[in-house]
Amino acid sequence: MVMSSVGKVAADTTARIAMLGRGPVPAGEPVLRGDDLGVLRGDGLFETMHLRQGRPWLRDEHLTRLAVAAAAVDLPLPPTAVLIELLDTVRAGWPAQVEGALRLVCTRGPEAGGPPTVYATLTEVPAPSRAARRDGISVATLPLGVPADARTGLDWLPAGIKSTSYAVNSAARRWARKAGVDDVLWISSDGYALEGPTANVVWLTGGTLCTVPATTTGILPGTTVAWLLGHAGELGLTAAERMGTPAELHGADGIWFSSSVRGITEVHTLDGVRRDRSPRTAALHALLGFSVA
Ligand code: PLP
Repeated sequence: MVMSSVGKVAADTTARIAMLGRGPVPAGEPVLRGDDLGVLRGDGLFETMHLRQGRPWLRDEHLTRLAVAAAAVDLPLPPTAVLIELLDTVRAGWPAQVEGALRLVCTRGPEAGGPPTVYATLTEVPAPSRAARRDGISVATLPLGVPADARTGLDWLPAGIKSTSYAVNSAARRWARKAGVDDVLWISSDGYALEGPTANVVWLTGGTLCTVPATTTGILPGTTVAWLLGHAGELGLTAAERMGTPAELHGADGIWFSSSVRGITEVHTLDGVRRDRSPRTAALHALLGFSVA
């Protein structure tokens, strides 16, 4: 708890970290060795969850995706119960009314060998994420330079894992900033929409809520979009995984980016073309349980 200047007890939403084997670590104290392979090579995995009412939404889905990825890259994870305990440690006492971004990170550990480095961080959902959820985003398509099925065709390359190697994703977001747009949508060299650097794409066409199949493209299988499409029937919509071109997206009744912390964000402008706002957006927010204040 923190006392505000007027003497009221304010919720303490200072960024938090808890490390496996060490517990909560005071903010600002070092937590990683300089020779950690997560730092040296981006050799690690992570998951980011939405903390709502003090609890991680879709926690088990995130832990399952992490376990699948860990198996794909031979990263020995602690037992699930231990990971859950770590998440519980970092979120203990977090004010229920404050949305949080809860991250779980597992790297391969020190270069000379040793156990994986495992820690959790918790921060307040940043204002720009909440603003994007409320106001929507402008998106530009950006070539990824490979065919849609390039990654799944390579049996040595783990596809669809949430690796800490986000150099390409970060480059795309830097490009977006320079181009004056909020985000980008990667397009395969054979002309299909894939995903954003931190989000899946969802579009509505003829009463069907669509997204890109992860199994044939190697994009990240998003927890948010999976949940959304699994519950589309509650809005009287059907759901489908299919490939879509930018032209098909321009003709769609609505386009959104989906991700754990931002939730659903409507694409109000695609490649400079302003779109009518979808009357479905509010219902999608409500279905996913995201506040849009
Ligand atoms: N695709 C990429 C590349 C991402 O980084 C993310 C989330 O960060 C997503 C999709 C959305 O996944 P989720 O809904 O599980 O957050």
